[in-house]
Amino acid sequence: MFRYDLTHRRPGEAIMADLLLLQMLDLDRCPHCGVDKPSLPAHGTFQTMAQGASGPRVWSAYGCNRCGGVVVASAAAFGLIVQEVFPESRNVPDDIPERAGAYLKQAIASISAPAGAVMLSASAVDAMLKTRGYTDGSLYARIDQAAKDNEITKDMAAWAHAVRLDANNERHADESQPMPTTTDAERCVDFVVALAEIMFTLPARAKRALAPH
Ligand SMILES: [Zn+2]
Repeated sequence: MFRYDLTHRRPGEAIMADLLLLQMLDLDRCPHCGVDKPSLPAHGTFQTMAQGASGPRVWSAYGCNRCGGVVVASAAAFGLIVQEVFPESRNVPDDIPERAGAYLKQAIASISAPAGAVMLSASAVDAMLKTRGYTDGSLYARIDQAAKDNEITKDMAAWAHAVRLDANNERHADESQPMPTTTDAERCVDFVVALAEIMFTLPARAKRALAPH
């Protein structure tokens, strides 16, 4: 669980100040299934109070009509600006190459269509590896080579193998392979987000921090 972080919102994203604690939660995207403009009606509202606080925190629990996932949000009072949302939505990390970012964005939005999300996740990894010169062989062969070259850690390569990123199975519709589930899709997307952060976001942030001012 992450605290909803206002400072990480990027230009173009809906501003959190627009989000109010109402009968419907007006999120851009369901944090569970990734569907655009989810229908999220409130199923219950309650309040909590911290010791010594001047007022209560009011919480509403919302259910996604698409996937049944629950989103919980809080504000100082019903009808006021939302301060916290759990769980946090998956976002495309900063500084990743444009093409990989476009695939990842679509993968996040299509978790409710898992076979598509898995293929898009593989395409995102493919695009990231290509920017580092890994163009030949299967996706997994290139991931392993990137680990050998210390572009990524061996743990990241092991994680890649642990998720069902093998888009070939989807493309060739291998009858012996079970269809990917939304859990498979979420695991693939989470791996791609982590890989993007390690390969691009963190190095770019380090470079900015070390740049002469
Ligand atoms: Zn949903």
